[in-house]
Order: sequence, then C-alpha cells, then structure tokens
Amino acid sequence: RDDKIDEIVKAIDEYGSKFLRFQFVDIHGTPKNLSVSLNRPDDVEHIIEDGLLFDGSSVPGFVGINDSDLALKPDLSTFSTLPWRPDEKGACRFICDVYNIDGTPFEGDPRGVLKKSLKKAEERGYQFNMGPEPEFFLIEQDEKGNYKPADDAEYFDVEPLDQGLDVRKEIVLGLEKLNFNIEVSHHEVAPGQHEIDFRFDDALKTADAVVTFKQAIKAMVDNLGYQVTFMPKPFFGINGSGMHCNQSLFKDGKNIFYDPDTETQLSQEAMYFIGGLLEHAKALSAILSPTINSYKRLVPGYEAPCYIAYGLRNRSTLLRIPASRGIGTRIECRSPDPSCNPYLAFAVLLEAGLDGMDNKIDPGEPTEFNAFSLTQDELAEQGIETLPTSLWEAYHSLEKDEVVKNALGDYVYNQFYNIKRAEWDDYRIQVFDYEREKFLNI
Ligand code: ADP
Ligand code: MG
Ligand code: MG
Ligand code: MG
Ligand code: MG
Repeated sequence: RDDKIDEIVKAIDEYGSKFLRFQFVDIHGTPKNLSVSLNRPDDVEHIIEDGLLFDGSSVPGFVGINDSDLALKPDLSTFSTLPWRPDEKGACRFICDVYNIDGTPFEGDPRGVLKKSLKKAEERGYQFNMGPEPEFFLIEQDEKGNYKPADDAEYFDVEPLDQGLDVRKEIVLGLEKLNFNIEVSHHEVAPGQHEIDFRFDDALKTADAVVTFKQAIKAMVDNLGYQVTFMPKPFFGINGSGMHCNQSLFKDGKNIFYDPDTETQLSQEAMYFIGGLLEHAKALSAILSPTINSYKRLVPGYEAPCYIAYGLRNRSTLLRIPASRGIGTRIECRSPDPSCNPYLAFAVLLEAGLDGMDNKIDPGEPTEFNAFSLTQDELAEQGIETLPTSLWEAYHSLEKDEVVKNALGDYVYNQFYNIKRAEWDDYRIQVFDYEREKFLNI
C-alpha cells in the first residue's frame, strides 16, 4: 500500500497540482469534496493513509449535528487528474469511502450501500456489470430568461443542424482523458438532446464513472460557454432524458445470462433476474426515478416506459432484452434517469434481480406488442401493471418492499424516505400558472 501511495504522491508532483480533492456523494448522488492543499507533501501522505476527518452534519442524508464527525478514506484505484481544470489551478482527486471515527463503515454512505450489495453477488461468485446510457440537454436562455434547447436538430443529425456536435466532441475528448471508454455519442430525438455511451464495467466502477461523467460534462460545458441539464423532463411535449441501465452477471468471466441452448438464448438465471426486477419494479421506482420531475418523463408516447413488463427488443416496456447475445447478453432497464443516485440505483437493481434468482420468480411471456397502443382495459386484461405515476406513489411502494428497503439498509432508507416525503409535501402545496389558466374562471 505504501508503494501505491508513493507512486500517487509522485504523480501529483509531476502533474504540478496544487490541490488534492477528497470526493464522495450525498444521498442524492451529488458530488461533494474537501480539498487538501499540496504545499505540505508529508501531511498529504498521512491523510491519504489515515483518512480525512470532516463534519458530516450539513451533508444531505448524512448525520445529525450531535454526532457529526466522519472520515473520508480514499479508494486509491480512483486517483485521477481533472482535465477540465486550467493548468495553473490544476487539481487531482480521489473518490472516497466514508467511515465513522471508530473505523467502521458509515451506513449512510451510498458507495458503501453498493459495496454491500456487490458483496452479496460476489458471495455467489458473480460480478455485476452495468452499462449506462445517460442523456442530457444542451440549453440556452432567450431574452426573457426562459430556457430552451440549444439546437433544432433531431435523432442522429449532423452539422450544421446539430450545433451541439462540437461541444459533444470536446466532451468526448475530455472524458477520454479521464480514461472513459466511449462507445458511441450522438444527437438524441429531442432538440438540444444528446447521448454519450461508455463501455460497461463492474457496477462500482460504473457508479463512480456516472458521477464523474456528470461532473466533468457540467464543468467542460461551462468552460465552453454553454449550459447543460441532466433534468429528467426539462420541457413539456418532447422526450425527456433517461439513463437506461444495461445489466449482466458474469461468473468466471462468462456471461451467465447467455445460454445458446434455449430458444431465446437467454438462460434460466436471466429469466429469474427479469422476474425479480418486475416483481420489485414499483418500489425500485423510488430510487431509479427519484425526483418529482422524473414522473413527468414516465408518460406514454415519448419512448420512456410506463408499464411493468419485459420485451425482446421491444422499446415500449420497462425492460428490454437487446438482440445482442454472447458477452453482450443483457437486461436493459429503461426507467432510470440521470437524477438518480447511481450507487443506490445499481444496488437496488442488483438485489431485486438476485431476489428473483433466489426465489425463482417467473417473469411470464415477453410482451411483443407496443404497450403504448393498449387501453387501460386491455392492459388490465393482459395483467400488465403501471409504474408509479408520482413520487408519492413510489415511496409508498418502497415502504412495503422489504427486499428494496433491505438493499438500502435502515439508515439510508429512513433518510431517503424523510427527504422524499418532504420534497413531495413541498411540491403538492405549490400553485402553478397551469392551474390558473385552467381554473381561474371556474
Ligand atoms: P441502445 O440500443 O439501447 O441505444 P447502446 O448500444 O447505446 O444501446 O448501449 C449499450 C450499453 O450496454 C453500453 O453502455 C454497453 O457497454 C452496454 N453493454 C454491452 N454489453 C453489456 C453487458 N454484458 N452487460 C452490461 N452492459 C452491457
Ligand atoms: Mg444508446
Ligand atoms: Mg439508444
Ligand atoms: Mg437514448
Ligand atoms: Mg438504451
């Protein structure tokens, strides 16, 4: 371990960095950090080794003011420079785990929640892989200060329609400097909307990467004089931004969702995993679609799911099994959006899937029709249920789901529940222009 620290201290020195950031996330997945000045290298070595004490009482979802001391211990494998920083104000950073001062892991740390779930998979010999597809909007403000998409381009358009092209190129190059393995990037369906996909990896690395992805894009776009939003549904009437989550389990380097001998080439394990995701879909919503605004994206007609069903290649259902087989065999969950906390989201997806495998939950036959084309009666006939349509519904479903609650742990569950209930209460007492337009003359 000492060697590794020496190596890192040397790298920091070579980079000429003035600051070392200790980064973690709050319960919403928002990155937070403390910077250590690098003018006393000996101290830095000790801090890397022993951890950095901090006051956790003002971090959303963390601790009370009466018992507020926590420690950040860097995960040495996450060391990186921050390419969007100007050279003269360069910084390096670690992603950290959060500990209590007695050295035990802090139960409110979202990264710790995911690590605990991944351990359950490891005990069964599995590596849990995640490939996310985050979408976002480049936006600008008109003379009146109203936000609008920054271009009028459409799906897969090229310049000059896709004015975001150069920005997107800059972003991809910046992310590659951060060792992102970018697979594709393209203009999305809505004006101003873009998608950048990076290669799947172990879920912990991927969750770290999602946080870095959003953080890096915000910083780079700001440097270029543009504005970006990862809000799930920034504009009425056009597609919102999702973050599809592609999942698979590997055992001894082999994808266990693949079985060349079945009709669909999906294994029994894959079917049970799907069964688990469907069984817990309502409670999962609270974590995968965690903001009031998330539910304005999950409406019929915009390629976002509303119905709890799975399909092969079908993009109208909650779960889709893409055509790819062999190593690329995966289950895509289409409800998550970029406002979710990736650590918590990946933890609950995994544990819902494992529950399906443990209890052999049968997902039934795949849905082959366009679910959006059915009436409520037809859906009921087919036994297809609807995802929660509000944060209020979602957190009441969460309340009743022991598997998803258990994945979060009591500490995070209670913090999350209280914060989300307060968000809902704050929202439901607001009166909007929309209501005055509809009801003023009643
Ligand atoms: P879509 O057709 O939904 O747009 P993409 O090809 O854009 O799908 O995205 C696919 C994502 O799935 C990428 O992040 C890719 O790395 C990931 N992926 C591929 N194979 C696997 C796998 N076995 N497990 C998890 N994710 C995978
Ligand atoms: Mg994609
Ligand atoms: Mg796509
Ligand atoms: Mg997309
Ligand atoms: Mg997708």
